[in-house]
Amino acid sequence: MSIVRVAIPVPVPQLFDYTCETAVPSDVGRCVRVRFGRRIETGIVVELPANSDIAPARLRPVEQILRDTPAMSADWLALTRFVARYYHAPVGEVMALALPPELRRATTVDIRDDDPLLALTPAGHTALNEGGRPSRARRHLAALAEAGPTRKSVARQWPDGDATAELLRRQWVYPAAPANPALTPPRLPTLTDEQAAVLEAITTAQPGFLPVLLQGVTGAGKTEVYLRLAERCLAAGHSVLMMVPEIALTPQFESRITERFPHARIVALHSGAGDMARSRGFLRALEGDADIVLGTRLSVFTPLPRLGLIIVDEEHDPSYKQQEGVRYSARDVAVWRAHHQGVPIVLGTATPSLESWRHASEGRYRHLRLTRRAVATQMPTVRLIDTRRAKLDGGLSKPLIEAIGQRLARREQSLIFLNRRGFAPVLACPSCEWVSACPHCAANRVVHLADRRLRCHHCGFDSPIPVACPDCGEQDLQPLGRGTQKLEAHLAERFPEARVLRVDRDVARSRSDWLALLAKIHAGEADILVGTQMMAKGHDFERLTLVGVVGADAALYASDFRAPERLFQQLMQVGGRAGRSHLAGEVLIQTEFGDHPLFQCLKRQDADAYARLALDDRRQAGFPPFTFQAMLGADAPQLADAIAFLQRARDDALTDLPAALMLYDPVPMRMHRLARRERAQLLVESTERAALQQFLGVWVPRLYRLPAGRDLRWRVDVDPLDV
Ligand code: ADP
Ligand code: ZN
Ligand code: ZN
Repeated sequence: MSIVRVAIPVPVPQLFDYTCETAVPSDVGRCVRVRFGRRIETGIVVELPANSDIAPARLRPVEQILRDTPAMSADWLALTRFVARYYHAPVGEVMALALPPELRRATTVDIRDDDPLLALTPAGHTALNEGGRPSRARRHLAALAEAGPTRKSVARQWPDGDATAELLRRQWVYPAAPANPALTPPRLPTLTDEQAAVLEAITTAQPGFLPVLLQGVTGAGKTEVYLRLAERCLAAGHSVLMMVPEIALTPQFESRITERFPHARIVALHSGAGDMARSRGFLRALEGDADIVLGTRLSVFTPLPRLGLIIVDEEHDPSYKQQEGVRYSARDVAVWRAHHQGVPIVLGTATPSLESWRHASEGRYRHLRLTRRAVATQMPTVRLIDTRRAKLDGGLSKPLIEAIGQRLARREQSLIFLNRRGFAPVLACPSCEWVSACPHCAANRVVHLADRRLRCHHCGFDSPIPVACPDCGEQDLQPLGRGTQKLEAHLAERFPEARVLRVDRDVARSRSDWLALLAKIHAGEADILVGTQMMAKGHDFERLTLVGVVGADAALYASDFRAPERLFQQLMQVGGRAGRSHLAGEVLIQTEFGDHPLFQCLKRQDADAYARLALDDRRQAGFPPFTFQAMLGADAPQLADAIAFLQRARDDALTDLPAALMLYDPVPMRMHRLARRERAQLLVESTERAALQQFLGVWVPRLYRLPAGRDLRWRVDVDPLDV
């Protein structure tokens, strides 16, 4: 009798044994349907153990083994097991996360491409060059090499056409995309000297794992470098994994890739893609039928048998870290994957994360730079406007208003960046203490004048704006502070001749809304844009020459120690939108803290100076990346229950605590109530990553057995971003 050990998506950190009469070693990696409790679940076979800890009579049989779907590869199993190990998450949950939805539901996914073009893989070229014993397969391979990519139906009719299936099985050929004659590759731009040097450095390096931090100013042409690297990789028969923070926000990126590689089979895995499309993309990749996978963080789990290169664009972006469920960092997992599979990985950004910058400065990553823009003659100039003394008009200083006026006169575009949606962050009563607090969260509800509602940005709870104070009846309720809607209204009033366009999540709710807005901006149908960080990412607007920044000071003194780093990255990025083309760009930042070193670095646009400065601060304060952290979070209807659980967890740990480790007291989280649940956290810290990992490896499995209060949930977050 054969036993199969199965990973099942349930919140316990173990594997489960079943019997399966027909199981053979090649079934490792296959999906199975198994009975778990009263449910049927889809799991993955991770090994065929010789025997089980469970008595044979008590083992249940597998309901079904899904042999129509190819098995997950050993690389994929290693990747998901690493993630489970490092993030201390149940392996079944990691695998379920990594599998596309239709596979989890065990629905049949039809990925057939009826008549693909066949082309030689690197193994095919090797087989050809080796010569070897003459055979039908080798003769057929030689014929295919001679003819170039050929339709399968055509190749089958050749003298040795019967060997076509064998060539595919041996992975000497693979199905290349049908060439579309309407698409021809565009003429390539001549590389700048810096781009050429970067390319040279990467392509002449030893084959194998090569982590590269590609630090290039905005507009330096990092994308062109990615495309050239991808081109070489594809030419060698390998495939490329290209990760971006949010595809929906940067359709330009996607279209540049499809234009450049009209013959490549590109799989785009973004949040807008439906379940079926995602599943089909995943399966095509699994079968070696994808040349380029372009996707957001989840795409790091795409199986790619011919993987030759990983690119992580905007590597500093916090959206690479999943904030719920399995809390993995897709960037860090990608680095592990590149290492495991022995391929280069390029982490691109204008403003490196402090973690990556430190790795690069200490020689663990290759540090390559692009210091000049590819097209624009110069970087935008950055000016700080001191708002301590200035009189503001609707939140705007005189120099900023004048600068907007100049752009209008020259028919250029301006972007005013304010990272706060809504009309005003809070509605307050002038006669009593009442404010528009959210009844379910430790936060205020935001005034949305456009649809006349008070809305919580954390849990979504909303209600109409009251006509009078609910506590004292006062009719003159005051919206305090400023959001994008208020700024938009003010700009429209101040510049009646201008077309003002607001761009935030309230107007761009769907991908198609967003594409429509982008098209409008590109067509020059807006003069003044008011936008949140949606506008900061990777866009190229030809006539945008002014970026104004308002309301940025709060982040300087926020309680989150990472807030200044994010502020710097965001402002560099949004500033980089100015003057991308032949028109010169200008960035005006309104601040009360012009002398703050962060703003001084921004003014010089010196990401290295900022990284040095911020790392010094972190070192002195003993924060990451100089220490390593994990967070045990708990939430429950009552705060006391959450705290009590964490306290038990802490007591449990203290009995065998290694010296390099520090456990803090359980405390309520900064936002201690969210959607009616009280939240608390326990921080674990160590100066050594290995010590932290070792501790968690012992401690976390024990947490599952701790008594927990009514309706309590807990989770572990390794390398948390929000502390
Ligand atoms: P980044 O991602 O570094 O901010 P992009 O890759 O978007 O910059 O490039 C900025 C602009 O420069 C794009 O319009 C791109 O087409 C152009 N560009 C990049 N490299 C070259 C080059 N070698 N010659 C001409 N134009 C280039
Ligand atoms: Zn009142
Ligand atoms: Zn709320």
